[in-house]
Amino acid sequence: MAGGATPETISQPCPSWCEREHAGAHADDLLHTGGGRFVDGVVGRWRSGEIQPEPVTLIVYLEQSLADKSLWLSLADAEGPLCLRLDMHTARSLVQALRVTLEVADLPISG
Ligand SMILES: [Zn+2]
Repeated sequence: MAGGATPETISQPCPSWCEREHAGAHADDLLHTGGGRFVDGVVGRWRSGEIQPEPVTLIVYLEQSLADKSLWLSLADAEGPLCLRLDMHTARSLVQALRVTLEVADLPISG
């Protein structure tokens, strides 16, 4: 059992959004994990003095520690090491900043 978990902690009921099988074999089993929302898109990589477009698949999902109940929104590159784990306040602030920035570019998000 990783991280000092006990069978009791793993047997806690999952939140409705959790899709993880908590087998208890890995440290990640100590996280409730939601299903990923996949975003296929393009990122700009700085190379040779210019920004070059490159395809990317991003995944957005929820995680919650069984130990302290902290809730996180994770934004990860499906093919790379990038993973930003944001607390809920930061996630909401990021969404607001994205909305404002897109509005400045005359690309508002409706809804
Ligand atoms: Zn769970």
